[in-house]
Amino acid sequence: MGISHYLHTDSAFTYVLNSNAQQQSLRNKNSNPKMVAKPGTSQHEKGDALDSGPPSAYGWLKKNAPRFGFKNYPPEPWHYSTTGH
Ligand SMILES: [Zn+2]
Repeated sequence: MGISHYLHTDSAFTYVLNSNAQQQSLRNKNSNPKMVAKPGTSQHEKGDALDSGPPSAYGWLKKNAPRFGFKNYPPEPWHYSTTGH
């Protein structure tokens, strides 16, 4: 699970941008590509993804995210992006 995923706040949408260096160091710690995207491939690095919470908001997010053009990445109920990755 990436560091960004711990940065949940109470706001409905929180943009979390990872620098490439941060993404690389996450990957060094966890090479499971499902958990940490390869450097240069994360939607976070492109600014196209966001992580949101708290968990009690996941239901609302799932229902309402499409209105804002976001798709959920199913393995991560907090992770939304323009592509669903
Ligand atoms: Zn994420």
